[in-house]
Amino acid sequence: MSESPNTAASGTSTGFSTQAIHAGQEVDQVFGAVVPPVHFSTTYAPDGIGNLRNGYDYGRAGNPTRTALQTQLAALEGGGHAFSFGSGLAAEDAVIRALLRPGQRIVMGNDAYGGSFRLFDKVHSAWGVANTPLDLSDHTRVAAELENDDAALLWVETPSNPLMAVTDITALADIAHAHGALLVVDNTFATPYLQQPLSLGADVVVHSTTKYIGGHSDVVGGAVVLGSGDAADDLAGKIAFQQFAVGAVSGPLDAYLTTRGLKTLGVRMDRHCANAQTIAEHFQDHPAIEKVLYPGLASHPQHELAKSQMRSFGGMVSIQLTGGEPAARKVAEATRFFILAESLGGVESLMNYPHEMTHASVRGTELAVPENLLRLSVGIEDVADLIDDLERALGGL
Ligand SMILES: *Cc1c(COP(=O)(O)O)cnc(C)c1O
Repeated sequence: MSESPNTAASGTSTGFSTQAIHAGQEVDQVFGAVVPPVHFSTTYAPDGIGNLRNGYDYGRAGNPTRTALQTQLAALEGGGHAFSFGSGLAAEDAVIRALLRPGQRIVMGNDAYGGSFRLFDKVHSAWGVANTPLDLSDHTRVAAELENDDAALLWVETPSNPLMAVTDITALADIAHAHGALLVVDNTFATPYLQQPLSLGADVVVHSTTKYIGGHSDVVGGAVVLGSGDAADDLAGKIAFQQFAVGAVSGPLDAYLTTRGLKTLGVRMDRHCANAQTIAEHFQDHPAIEKVLYPGLASHPQHELAKSQMRSFGGMVSIQLTGGEPAARKVAEATRFFILAESLGGVESLMNYPHEMTHASVRGTELAVPENLLRLSVGIEDVADLIDDLERALGGL
């Protein structure tokens, strides 16, 4: 293939999975390898002093395997730039450092990922960047907060973790921009296959690629993706500088594994979505269950909104148990295929008790989660086995 990475990225008529497989994956020029080699070298010999070959000089500044992943990520989000980091939180940290200064403030959802809140509240606040968590469905309140000059960034996660609230990206982009603020969307749960925030008006997309993008629970990583045009190019310059100057980059093997996972994102998400929908529908009237939280159910308060901004509804389902905390704890420890573990988005199903696991850091804060709630990351196993597994665990209550 002679096309440059950016040709694939900007191809408007190319389908998602075609881009996932081809963007950034040119056939190797030396051996013809169809899968580009993993470049482990930390340093690159110039063709004489000052003549870098293809721009590479040192591994923190740039690495061809990382470039391939970044090209793929930018293409899939419909963006112009992507930057890969050693974790989702490292990517988020780069965004805050690049875009905010002491005395400025983040306005964010009050059900954001606990680790994001911990980063803002325990790390960035010590450097003078404050945060205000609030209910993002209250657009009047969001607008009122953004009236204040110090509120420079609106941080949205949709669907949210673990309450599965869906936020109107287009509406919040308009509100943020009317007040001179930037909109960041954490697109980890939806993935670019289901939702493309840049096309809905977001300025910045962040990912924990550890989850669906990697998809196999074997690599930690994060990404920042930006659009195209002068404003996006300017933001990209700032993120690029953070990536280079702070150095929280993904290593070559991690970048390679993430690229490999990303190639199958479309087919995996189709199966995650189908399994999650079947499970949500099957258990919504179960006597041991008080409530199933899933945007694909007609009973979900933002079902119509989810339909309008997402291709399908994702693989995450939360359930609240009638029997309260004791029931939640018992079920969490009683399943066979749903493995009790943190994280999400892998091919295998996972069960999480957020109150004490992923969201332990937000206990007692405004972001605390209900004690009777279990979060399921529905994998791509045979759905009949997953239903049977949950039925047995609930039957043991
Ligand atoms: C896991 C997660 C993060 C943090 O990413 P890491 O890769 O664990 O650093 C951020 N946002 C969401 C929604 C997540 O699920």
